[in-house]
Amino acid sequence: MANIVAIVGRPNVGKSTLFNRLVEERKAIEDNLSGVTRDRHYGHAQWGGKFFSVIDTGGYVTGSEDIFEKEIRKQVKLAIEEASVILFVVDCMVGLTDLDAEFAKELRGADKPIFMVANKADNLDDLLMANEFYALGIGEDIIFPTTSTSGSGIGDLLDEVIKKF
Ligand code: GDP
Ligand code: MG
Repeated sequence: MANIVAIVGRPNVGKSTLFNRLVEERKAIEDNLSGVTRDRHYGHAQWGGKFFSVIDTGGYVTGSEDIFEKEIRKQVKLAIEEASVILFVVDCMVGLTDLDAEFAKELRGADKPIFMVANKADNLDDLLMANEFYALGIGEDIIFPTTSTSGSGIGDLLDEVIKKF
């Protein structure tokens, strides 16, 4: 089975920034229209000699709470179906939100490995914030702090992710 990593999480946590870090040939993907849908971007990546596809989820409809919840459910369901590994991204600068909890609830039943990625861990204070996400009780034993804008922490995350392939 193909190795597919899906990136999920609420808007603005840094999913697309992480996606761009993982996927090296950005241009090739944008040009490959067949692999690009309006709300899901697919790219190819490799780490430690292993090749995998990455899905950036999260084109969200804005509107009522109902639509939003439905959209979350849809995105998470698709990710669980398609992916071999799920990266659940949260934001250390903002901290734990109701919407993060909503995602966690939807992810809980997944029979796929889930990695909690505490992004925007830019400095020590932000890094310490990552601990509060343990309250969600989801994913592998440890949370992976990253700074997607600089690439910090992503290597350690990928070292563990590729062990699941
Ligand atoms: P998405 O909505 O989850 O796809 O989030 P984006 O990737 O579009 O990022 C939202 C904003 O957060 C952008 O302004 C990014 O530059 C910023 N961002 C992403 N990762 C980091 C990070 O590690 N640290 C900081 N300080 N900003 C980040
Ligand atoms: Mg995005």
